[in-house]
Amino acid sequence: MARPIQASIDLAALRHNYLVARARVPGARAWVVVKANAYGHGILRAARAVADVADGFALLDLEEAVRLREAGVQQPILLLEGFFGVEDLALIRDLRLSSVIHCREQVEMLMASSLRPPLYLKFNTGMNRLGFTGADLGWLRERLPALAAGGLTLMTHFADADSERGVDWQMRRFRDLLPDWRGPFSFANSAAILRHPEVGGDWIRPGIMLYGGSPFADASAESLGLRPVMSLRSELIGIQELRPGDRVGYGGGFEARAPMRIGIVACGYADGYPRHAPSGTPVLVNGRRTRTVGRVSMDMLTVDLGPVAEAGIGSPVTLWGIGLAADEIAASAGTISYELFCALAARVPVVEAGQVAG
Ligand SMILES: *Cc1c(COP(=O)(O)O)cnc(C)c1O
Repeated sequence: MARPIQASIDLAALRHNYLVARARVPGARAWVVVKANAYGHGILRAARAVADVADGFALLDLEEAVRLREAGVQQPILLLEGFFGVEDLALIRDLRLSSVIHCREQVEMLMASSLRPPLYLKFNTGMNRLGFTGADLGWLRERLPALAAGGLTLMTHFADADSERGVDWQMRRFRDLLPDWRGPFSFANSAAILRHPEVGGDWIRPGIMLYGGSPFADASAESLGLRPVMSLRSELIGIQELRPGDRVGYGGGFEARAPMRIGIVACGYADGYPRHAPSGTPVLVNGRRTRTVGRVSMDMLTVDLGPVAEAGIGSPVTLWGIGLAADEIAASAGTISYELFCALAARVPVVEAGQVAG
């Protein structure tokens, strides 16, 4: 029998979450952001979940674009960081990709070629990662007409759509850049789609919300109408009875105050569970909520069986997913659900639930 850990991916939930995103900004089309192997969910699996509804797929790695095309995906595919060298251009043509361009070097590579893919011209309006600024406008105006034959969309990316600062300050900067632009726009990530849908745009770019993660520290995914997609489950493979003063795990960071029963779960940081999750992180055993105790080790973690007296070896454990939001585990470990999902280890077998038609 295989080690009992397993990640289950609910395809119907992913499709539902995509439709939630699109309904927030009526009239906009939505890139299904599938970078990082669909946030750890499996890029082909994610593509299959939304095959009949997806407007397009957005990702970073050419190799991921190849996999989508080889799987028969016909929708547009957008490279979110564009291309990294001239040698990528032939593949962009062959795979019919759309590309972000965010720096002069990319413009020059395109100018030197005869290739005119659909372009997303990215502006830096305050995130200060990628994108052109006002200082580039004169330079761009001289070159863009020659490059735009495949179509041109203007885009920017929000730094604070999930927090108090919001998006208005970036939208003001954006509008000041090219006030006479009449073509298409793309602005919104998940946080903006959910909290600032009025920014609109022709193409939205939902990522984490598709996978049932909340982009907000102060709102659960459930309250946003999102369904969990990834459930990480395992089983108890050991039981220990502790006496007062007994300690648990490496470093003995947890000490029993009274007699207590603990369960050993076949899941550790080598499976993708965050090592920084402290004692007290919620976990479900037999569907009931309890907490972790002691340090997470490579292949195991330990849980308090106080609230689940009947639990024994083989009892099911949910680390996150249906019944226990990944966002809760992430918050306890000082991170975000994005990181938990992306960190799901290759050694964890994945099964699919919620088959979608076709
Ligand atoms: C990853 C990414 C997104 C999606 O962001 P979420 O917060 O996951 O919704 C949108 N736009 C760009 C440019 C991205 O890189």
